[in-house]
Amino acid sequence: MKALLDELVATHRPPSPVGRLPESIPHLADVDPRAFGIAVASVDGTIASAGDADVPFSIQSISKLFSLALALREEPREALWERVLREPSGTAFNSLVQLEAEAGIPRNPFINAGALVVTDFLAELLGDAAGSVVGFLRDLSGSSRLAVDESAARAELARSSRNRALANFLAGFGNLHNPVETVLEHYVRHCSITMSCRELARAGLFLANSGEGGPGGAPVLPAAQTKRINSVLLTCGMYDAAGEFAYRVGLPGKSGVGGGILAVVPGRYTVCVWSPGLDAKGNSVAGTAALAELTARTGWSIF
Ligand code: GLU
Repeated sequence: MKALLDELVATHRPPSPVGRLPESIPHLADVDPRAFGIAVASVDGTIASAGDADVPFSIQSISKLFSLALALREEPREALWERVLREPSGTAFNSLVQLEAEAGIPRNPFINAGALVVTDFLAELLGDAAGSVVGFLRDLSGSSRLAVDESAARAELARSSRNRALANFLAGFGNLHNPVETVLEHYVRHCSITMSCRELARAGLFLANSGEGGPGGAPVLPAAQTKRINSVLLTCGMYDAAGEFAYRVGLPGKSGVGGGILAVVPGRYTVCVWSPGLDAKGNSVAGTAALAELTARTGWSIF
């Protein structure tokens, strides 16, 4: 495994900057554009990695996967699904258009509008939504150093006109129960958690392991819930490129504009890849290419 990952690093580490970096979050431009890391965690407990797999990066929208899992864990009656749908959006991750058409019910929990509702749901249940996501990720990854990059969060909050518009829109439809600014602050803070590929691969392993593998051996979620989360990841996890990612890679996955992608090989592995240059849809260019080669060479695609 290690030899294969080293080969993927050699092939896919960009020789010069590729794609673009997100303009709306200035801190994300302070990274080495040639960075490339990959880690594969196995349900047997081993982890293999290569390249910059130990370098922490901003997890951004990958946090939406963990905030959803935490919401379903804390409120197993699934009241959340009355406030957010499970359909691919086909529009940009920060689009306002569908929210109006669907009367304030976001298409899925992984676009920004849906993630704002999940954050509001967590704030209602637990108070400190962002702190709860940090604690959940610390437990899942076994890494107590995980924290919010507070200066990145503050910088993003100051430039959150678009997410603020989405949150106000949701509030106008009665689909936010906490003040807009409270929800926004918790949202940008959980997006600004920094983690490495190894930490993320380990944290997501319960999704490959039918919900098993929480701290102290306790299950994180029932198997039925991880099956459902994986299905929403497959159809909605890669912004409006979920179809293309299923076509090229064939795994449930979640990307973030920090350049990370966490993918699940059900029953076997989680794979986390990171390289900062993004394509037009917001997904890591080199990361997607490496995952496509990985599944082609190993047969790990679910199809
Ligand atoms: N914090 C970012 C935003 O709300 C997350 C975007 C992403 O990773 O998709 O725009």
